[in-house]
Amino acid sequence: MSGQPGPEHLDEPLVVVAVRRHRHRAPLLRPFVTAARRTEAVEYVVAEVELADGTIGQGSAAETVAITGESADTIEAALEGPLRAAIQGRTGTIVELSARVAGALEGSTSAKAALEIALHDAWAKALDAPLVELLGGRLTDGLLNDMTISLEDPEVMAGHAREAVAGGEQILKIKLGHDISEDRERLAAVVAAVPDVRLRLDANQGWGPEQAIDIITGFLADGLPIDLVEQPVAAANIEGLARVTAAVDVPIMADEAVWNAEDAHRLVESGAADLLNIKLAKTGGLRGALEIADVAQKAGVECMVGAMMEPRISITAAAHLAVAHPAITMIDLDPPFWFASDEPAGGYTQENGWFRLAGGPGLGLELLAADVDPADADLVPTHPVGLSAGAEPSAAVEPSDPSGHSNPSNPSNLSDPRAGGGR
Ligand SMILES: [Mg+2]
Repeated sequence: MSGQPGPEHLDEPLVVVAVRRHRHRAPLLRPFVTAARRTEAVEYVVAEVELADGTIGQGSAAETVAITGESADTIEAALEGPLRAAIQGRTGTIVELSARVAGALEGSTSAKAALEIALHDAWAKALDAPLVELLGGRLTDGLLNDMTISLEDPEVMAGHAREAVAGGEQILKIKLGHDISEDRERLAAVVAAVPDVRLRLDANQGWGPEQAIDIITGFLADGLPIDLVEQPVAAANIEGLARVTAAVDVPIMADEAVWNAEDAHRLVESGAADLLNIKLAKTGGLRGALEIADVAQKAGVECMVGAMMEPRISITAAAHLAVAHPAITMIDLDPPFWFASDEPAGGYTQENGWFRLAGGPGLGLELLAADVDPADADLVPTHPVGLSAGAEPSAAVEPSDPSGHSNPSNPSNLSDPRAGGGR
C-alpha cells in the first residue's frame, strides 16, 4: 500500500480487546557513558495491544530513571494500571485512543510511549500499511544516522571513533560535559583519530553558559567539523541556552529542555535553540512528537529524532516518525547497535550510516515473544559498526540496586548501571 494518508485512515475504528506487557533485560556490548550516567544493561518493557480482529501491535520503553523518572517497575505499573484501564475494552480512532493514553495519568511518558506505539503498530497493521505512509511519509526515504561515542578516556574514545568510521559511520555523536579541560582532550583525540568525520557534540547539560561559550568557541577556532551542539546547559536554564545560541557560530540543539509542543513553542519563539531533539520517551508517543515537529516546521526549525538507550521496537517507531515528517532532517538512532542481542527481526536496515525502513505493515517488525529473553540469546553482531560482540565483557554485569532509583544530581550515578539509559 502506498497511498497518502487521508481521513479514512484516521477514521478507522479500533476495538481494543486486550492490553498486555512483558519485560526484558538486554546487556549492552560495552558500557554507555554520558555526563549524567553509565549504563551496562537495559531493562525494558514491551507493551502489546490486541484488536478485536486479532491484530497485535507492540511498542516498547526502557527504564530512564535519570531522565523521565521511570524504572521498568513503574513502567509496568503504569501499563497494568491506568494505561490499560484507559483503552482496554474501548473503541475509538487512533487519535482518540492516543488521547486517552496521554490523559490516563501524569508524567510516565515512557510507559505512555510504549502503549501509544503499540496502538500505532496495530492501527497500521489493521490497514495493511507501513506506519510511515499513514503518517504522510514515503517508505523509501532514508536518513543518515550517527554513532555515539560515549564519555571515556580520550584514547578510548579515539579507538571507538576509529572503529565506527571503519564500520562505515559518517557522523559521530561525541559525549562530553563531565570536565571542561578533559573535554578538550577528548575531542582532540577523536579528531586526530578520524579527521574527516562529521561531529555532533552532546554535553547533556554538563556546562554552564559561559563555559559552553568558551569551549564551543575554542573548538570552532580550532577548525573542528562540528555540525551541532546538543543541550550544553541545564534543561531549566532557557535564558542560558539562549545566550549560548546567540554567542556561538554553530547550531545549538535543545534536548532535555523540550518535552512537548509547549516547550518547543517557547524555545523557537524566543530563539533559545536553533534545533530540537524529539524523543518518543519524552513526548509520550507519536502524537506528541508530531505536535513538536509541526511547531518546528511552522517556525522553520529543523528537528532530530533521538531516543533513550532503547530497544529495536522503540527505535523503529522513532524512525517511522522521522522519515514521515518534513521538519525532521536528522536522526540519532544508534541504540540498538549497542545491544548484545537486537530483537525482534525487521523494522529497518543500516548501511554506511544510511538508515532505511524495511517496510511491511505497521512498524514492519516481527512480534517479540514474552518468553524470549535477549540476555539469553546468542550474541549476534547485526550492527554495521565496530562494536564487536565480546570485545568487552559488559554482558556479565549484574544490576547493583534492585530499587532502580537514583538521583540525577548525584554523581554516584556515573557508576550506577541502573541509572537508566537516558541520552
Ligand atoms: Mg542529548
